Formats: sequence, C-alpha cells, structure tokens
Amino acid sequence: MASLLGNLFILAAPSGAGKSSLIKALLEKHANKSAQRVEVSVSHTTRKPRPGEVDGEHYHFVSRDQFEALIEQGVFFEWAEVFGNYYGTSRVTIEQTLHRGVDVFLDIDWQGAQQVKQQLPDACGIFILPPSLSVLEERLTRRGQDSDEVIASRMKQAVAEMSHFSEFDYVLVNDDFSIALHELEAIVCARRLRLQKQQLRHQPLLDELLGSA
Ligand code: 5GP
Repeated sequence: MASLLGNLFILAAPSGAGKSSLIKALLEKHANKSAQRVEVSVSHTTRKPRPGEVDGEHYHFVSRDQFEALIEQGVFFEWAEVFGNYYGTSRVTIEQTLHRGVDVFLDIDWQGAQQVKQQLPDACGIFILPPSLSVLEERLTRRGQDSDEVIASRMKQAVAEMSHFSEFDYVLVNDDFSIALHELEAIVCARRLRLQKQQLRHQPLLDELLGSA
C-alpha cells in the first residue's frame, strides 16, 4: 500500500469508552467541511445485529460459515475473534478508499490493530481509555442493550483490552467528551499535515513554488 493519499486511523478502546460516539461526532463535524474526507470502515461480523443496527451501515452481518469462507478467500486486511464472534475488515475497500485520498477510521480491537500495524506501520493507532472503571461500568449498564451477564464479561474483557494501550501511538482519556473530541481532531489534523502526505497532496503547488529554483 505504497503512496497512499489517505491516512489510516486505528481506533481501539474497551467497550463503553465512548469510541463510537467520538467517531460519530468527528464525522458529523467534518461532513462536507473538511478539504479531506473521512470514512469509517464497515466491518464484517458474525455477531447478531443489536436493535437499530442496519446491515451494510453498522456492519455487514454474516454467518460463521460465510465469514470463514471470506477468510479462506483472503478478503480480510485483518480479522479477529472478539467476545466469541468474528470481526474483520475488507482489504479491497480500505485500499480503494485510501487511494482516493480519503482518510479511513478502523473501529477495531487490539488484535486487529496489531495486524494492521504489521502490514502498514504508517497507520496511526489511537487508544481511548475511560476515566475510571466505575464510569466504564456505568456507561455499559446505561446502554441497556446487553444483559448483566454480558456486561460483567465485557468488564473483564475491558481490562484485557486496556492492557494493550501501549501498543498505540496516541492515548486519549474520554472523561469530558468535548475535550476528547478536540484531542482526536488534533491527532487527525497533525497526521494529515505530515511531510510525506503533504508532498503527495501538494505536488503541483511544490512544483510551482520550487520549479524555477
Ligand atoms: P461490538 O460488537 O460492540 O460492535 O464490537 C466489539 C468489539 O469488536 C469492539 O472492540 C470493536 O472495535 C471490535 N471490532 C469491530 N469491528 C472489528 C473488525 O473489523 N476487526 C476487529 N479486529 N475488531 C473489530
């Protein structure tokens, strides 16, 4: 994936840290405003849809057999088993989007993040932490979409997920939502301004400015 115009951002967090809300808010704020567009990759999963989730919009919902066939076909850029379900990111979609100069957000777990970093070290890893365990538990309970048993198991998984925070380039603590959003925007902005991408993006300008030098 050499010379990609778009930036790949990996966002990981324990369930309930506010990752989806932050991504949603960032997309809304930047819709049609930013010179550079951002899209969130829609993963495949074998998990059952939650109320309100739409196939093709939140996830591509598939069976275990279908997912395993897609693994065999080499469709996934990365994939992992999380909470007993498969989740994976389509390679072709990511590559095509990045080639168009559109930034891509991957909302994935630490296992997927490791696979992405191995293949694309330039990808920007961002880990989002909750301000405390009690706030995390409260957020998971407030969702009201999962049973107590599922919440208890997700709390355990949260600690396991958080133990990987140091494998990422940036760490955000999502206490005050607007501050965390501002910090996320700052990371995205700084990433876009890195030399290599700016050189690719502004080649005509650089030719004009330096052509006669
Ligand atoms: P949920 O079922 O709550 O939507 O997601 C559970 C976990 O799976 C979250 O940590 C989410 O980031 C992760 N996840 C979602 N899509 C993918 C994916 O394509 N690959 C990987 N590795 N993890 C994913």
